[in-house]
Amino acid sequence: MGRYTGPTCRMCRREGMKLFLKGARCYMAKCPIDTGRPAPGMHGAHRGRKLSDYGLQLREKQRLRRQYGMQEGQFRIFFHRALRKKGVTGEMLLQQLESRLDTVVRRLGFAPSQRAARQFVRHGHVLVNGVKATIPSMLVKPGSVIKVKDSSRSRARAAASLEAAAGRGVPSWLSLDAKNFAGEFLRVPTRDEIAPAVNERLVVELYSK
Ligand code: SF4
Repeated sequence: MGRYTGPTCRMCRREGMKLFLKGARCYMAKCPIDTGRPAPGMHGAHRGRKLSDYGLQLREKQRLRRQYGMQEGQFRIFFHRALRKKGVTGEMLLQQLESRLDTVVRRLGFAPSQRAARQFVRHGHVLVNGVKATIPSMLVKPGSVIKVKDSSRSRARAAASLEAAAGRGVPSWLSLDAKNFAGEFLRVPTRDEIAPAVNERLVVELYSK
């Protein structure tokens, strides 16, 4: 599957907001969004035109997709799965994104960013309910225990990330046992609890055309 290999901060600059794609650096003063760097491109600094309805929907979708480090094809699959579920489609979509194994690993602090979390899972450092799990898009069920593999390499990586994330805490729908490199996915979060500052209704409108 293809993946974006260009400059990471460029995506935040394009969206005009912090997407927290780089771990610790995102909390430092040198984050390009905090230093006021404009959108990329020759006219980035002068982009002030009003967006069309389609433009607004597209930007909102890109913001959400990029926050979870997903490619268009996979994001669309998640949307269609959300569409088939009972309930508000936008909320279902966000809940699925938060239930992804790589998202849970990042939220627990075992990896500093979504991209790092995906690699951490892919390289076999994570166990779900005692079984090695190497698929980052796997949906974690409530009650599942996510643990870092008992190997010095895996634990050293997780420890460095946990240390950097110390003080930021974990969301209310997760519990963390940092000493044992384990965490539990307690329940699926509600929309209000999920952080992304996006209007998911616009994403639904875009894909419903
Ligand atoms: Fe770069 Fe992180 Fe700042 Fe985004 S939030 S611009 S990824 S440092």
